[in-house]
Amino acid sequence: FLKDHLTVVVIGASGDLAKKKTYPSLFALWKSHFLPEKIKIVGYARSKMSDADLRDRLRPFLVGAKSVHGRTDSQVEDFLEHCVYRSGGYEEAEAWKGVNEDLNEIEANSGMLECNRLFYFAVPPNVFAPAASAIKDNCWNLEGGREGWKRVIMEKPFGTDLSSFESLSQHLSSVFQEEEMYRIDHYLGKEMVANLLYVRFANIMFEPLWNRHYIKSVTITFKEDIGTYGRGGYFDKVGIVRDVMQNHLLQVMSIVAMEAPVRLAGERFDEFIRDEKVKVLECVDAIRPEEVVLGQYTASRDGSEPGYLEDEGVPKDSNCPTFATLVMWIRNQRWEGVPFILKAGKALNERKAEVRIQFHAAAAGEFLFPSAGELVRNELVFRMQPNEAIYMKANMKQPGLGDKITVSELDMTYRNAFPDDFDKLPDAYTRLILEVLRGKHAAFVREDELRVSWKIFTPLLEKLESQKPTSYVFGTRGPKESDELISKLGFRYHGGFYKYLKSIPG
Ligand code: NAP
Ligand code: NAP
Repeated sequence: FLKDHLTVVVIGASGDLAKKKTYPSLFALWKSHFLPEKIKIVGYARSKMSDADLRDRLRPFLVGAKSVHGRTDSQVEDFLEHCVYRSGGYEEAEAWKGVNEDLNEIEANSGMLECNRLFYFAVPPNVFAPAASAIKDNCWNLEGGREGWKRVIMEKPFGTDLSSFESLSQHLSSVFQEEEMYRIDHYLGKEMVANLLYVRFANIMFEPLWNRHYIKSVTITFKEDIGTYGRGGYFDKVGIVRDVMQNHLLQVMSIVAMEAPVRLAGERFDEFIRDEKVKVLECVDAIRPEEVVLGQYTASRDGSEPGYLEDEGVPKDSNCPTFATLVMWIRNQRWEGVPFILKAGKALNERKAEVRIQFHAAAAGEFLFPSAGELVRNELVFRMQPNEAIYMKANMKQPGLGDKITVSELDMTYRNAFPDDFDKLPDAYTRLILEVLRGKHAAFVREDELRVSWKIFTPLLEKLESQKPTSYVFGTRGPKESDELISKLGFRYHGGFYKYLKSIPG
């Protein structure tokens, strides 16, 4: 695609996602020479703005884009020269015809015959369907014998339950081909999530352990240390289950649990990966309401952080969960009996996202080291954010002349293992936009994946609607009922493991 002409149309260019993610990621790609030299980026929204207004709006987000390494002010200005703006309604045929004329002119001036068009939907979901139709009707045919691909990028949410998903999906698939659509779940663009495939399938040592015979539980956790801060009005309609679990955590779970794809390169490899993700999701049992803990945060102990119900826009009697723990059982040969625990919450004690695989106790541990009590279980942790790392808790002899047993970790913290690359890790959106330009679908969510994910979550969401969440204090680890549930499922917490030290009398 680098040899072809490229125009990107950012629909909703006046919005939050566009300035924080879409444009900075396009800038990162342009700066690293991953975009064709003559690229044009056409911003589109209803707000009235000139090209200069758009550039003024974007500039601070490009100058300050931490994920674009080694950027200079003059590079920002050069990049902004490629950005123009057109105003119009999302359903307005005339306005889209005007955009099409602009695109044709840009392409004609490029003097190239291969001209590609990328449409990035950075608008709220109520706009997806009408804008999609208007774009397809007015901006899909190239002029002057020019040819090229047309692709669309869309962002969650893809519905709020199975039936709203089906109606949106039906509309979109009547407009675009499945291969033209790239549905973003930005977790699939995270370095560590991409790495899961490599760790699982490029090493011989994990696969033999990757099953119910060795793994006791898998916990996939998303924690935020901030509240909703004025966005409660929006959040209240969504809740933590739809916001984080039905999409991001389920995507991660499917990669942890799936079988090896037929191939990871070559023709149809994208579909091989997605086929395996769908297959494993098809094996997920209905979520049991008695294995769900919901929470809602109250003000911090010192009163400096307000509770959820104090957020502007949140109804005073809201039952919206800001924390949830739920359990998934995958009914297949590999995972029968292994709980997959999904845990997510806002206003907690820390910010992190991780996969924690806890193994069974060492078989000989009890009689070889009887006085050590219950040995710490081996754990393999994939820290997705912050401070990416893979580490494994292992029991060791405390060094020295004594005979104590201690726990340490086999540690692959990215900052230490890849010091030259760590500060240059690309933002998830940058990686994903490049994948779209390369025509690779593996890191995007296919329609049938979404359907099965809504099938898993919709019955639960309906049951939970009227359920009152348990309160937890801002800045804590969430409701204690969550730890109780997880403990019942066999997860063992031994206390901060560096403090763990047991004596074995000689
Ligand atoms: P936004 O700022 O609220 O909206 C983007 C633009 O759409 C606005 O500037 C506005 O432009 C137009 N718009 C807003 N409300 C509208 C309405 N009711 N009807 C028609 N047009 C409307 O949204 P966003 O935060 O950029 O998010 C865009 C999409 O990405 C959403 O689907 C969101 O769920 C998803 N997303 C966003 C983020 C993020 O970081 N912001 C992260 C993940 C996913 P005009 O008034 O100028 O037309
Ligand atoms: P840990 O404290 O040994 O274990 C944390 C796990 O136990 C989490 O699942 C946590 O749940 C749960 N937990 C914490 N308190 C609990 C309680 N009171 N009751 C029940 N469960 C509880 O910590 P770790 O994350 O495995 O890290 C161990 C050490 O490795 C740390 O010193 C860390 O700095 C170090 N390390 C970190 C990295 C890295 O993050 N990049 C790399 C290498 C080594 P919640 O998640 O819900 O809190």
